[in-house]
Parts: sequence; C-alpha cells; structure tokens
Amino acid sequence: MPAHLTPLSGSVTTTARLNIRKGAPSTSAPITARAEPGTTLEVVGLIDGDSVSGNRQWYSGGNDAFFWSGACGAFRPSSTGTAPVFDVSRRPDGTIRVLSETEIRATYGDFAHTERHGGRIAIGGSWIGDNIVDLATPILTEEGFPSIQVHRKAAAPFQRAFAAIEQAGLQGLIRTCAGTFVPRHKGWDPNRGLSSHSWGIAIDLNVQWNGYGSVPAPLGAVGSVRELVLMFEAEGFGWGGYFQPASICDGMHFELARRDL
Ligand SMILES: [Zn+2]
Repeated sequence: MPAHLTPLSGSVTTTARLNIRKGAPSTSAPITARAEPGTTLEVVGLIDGDSVSGNRQWYSGGNDAFFWSGACGAFRPSSTGTAPVFDVSRRPDGTIRVLSETEIRATYGDFAHTERHGGRIAIGGSWIGDNIVDLATPILTEEGFPSIQVHRKAAAPFQRAFAAIEQAGLQGLIRTCAGTFVPRHKGWDPNRGLSSHSWGIAIDLNVQWNGYGSVPAPLGAVGSVRELVLMFEAEGFGWGGYFQPASICDGMHFELARRDL
C-alpha cells in the first residue's frame, strides 16, 4: 500500500472517461470499472500515485478503489452539499488556472498605482476602502492571525474554504499564514506585473515548506498544503504549486480564480 492516504469525505464528477483501478493509485493496477464523463464518484481519500500528465493526485473511492484526479472536476466536500457553480478556467488535467492581470482587473476592479520601494506599490483613490475587508476565521485565529484582509468578493469563498478545511479535520495542516492583501509586484520585482495579492484575492500558507521556485512539500510531509488544494479548488481557487516552469512554482500560494463574482 502507498505510504500516505489523507482521509476525505465528498465526491467528484468525472470530466472524461476514467478507469477505476484496484489496489494502488497506479496506471498499472488492474482496471475494475470505467466511469463515463459526468459520473459522480464518492471520494474517501487523497493519495500520491503515478504521475499522469504531471498530476500525481489520485482519489481513493473506498474498497481498495483508486482513480486519477485529473479526469475529475472540483472536489466537493460532503459538508457543502451541492456543487458550487462558478466560472473558472481549467488546465487539461482539471486543475484551476489563475486569472491574468486583465481578467483580475475586470472582475475585482481596476485601480491606478504608484511605485514604492522594493517592488511595493501604493494604490490610488478610494479603491482599498471600497474593496478590502477584514475577515476572521477560527483556523487562522488559532495560528495567531485574528483577521486577514481580503477583497470583499473573496471573503465568502475564503470563509467556505476554511470551514471545509476545519470540517475535514485538516486545520492542523495550516502552520503559518504569510499574508493576503499586499499591494506589490509579483516576486517583489518592479519589472514584473502586479501580484494578485494587490487585489486581496490570494493567500500564502506554510511558506517555510513551500518556497517560491522550489518543489512544494509532498503529501504527508510536514508543512504540506497538498490536501488543502482540493478544499481551495472546490471554492474556485488555483494553486501556485501548479505554476510552470519550476522556477515560478509557488506552493505557498492560493489565488481566487473565479470570473463570475
Ligand atoms: Zn502568494
């Protein structure tokens, strides 16, 4: 048996024809069934398995059954009931793409800015007062962050993601929170575009184990955020750990990618 299975309770709906394998999360394990696109499958766990198109996350369906996550839509924790409907762009493997700066401005608002030292910016006008709100969540309060600053449109998705994390008993995975709303350029580099943190739609978790440009901590390792990816994706957040090439991989980073808010 593979080393680490994170228990989950929920379901997914297949987006492509999917093989159900027996015994291991592996493309060489025997196929016991095939699910047509649009089939809803029960999920009892998440596990690292054979990499398919660069994605090694597999689901356990119970009874020793395993299937690849890339042929499934967003994970729906059983606590949330029906699937949230939202507009995001997905990669061929089913993971969520983050928005371009143009799309972010269109959905979350446009502002003018002036440059500050060290890649920081100052946002002009009344945009901050009109759009950035304080959000308190029990999990982050326990970690010493009684409130975080986020975009008003992102408050409910953040809140639901954290509630699902708590409901799944995964709150212990969150060790540090290094910021949400921070007006700045990507990578603090004034030559790059603006960071989504400037709009309050992103959060950095467990930085120490998921540094910028390095491989994020694997499932089951101290500081891993991989289990949380499902909870955030279920609310329309993309994960920086999927950013390519490896030099911009950003495992600490979760970013709201909904265009319908
Ligand atoms: Zn970030």
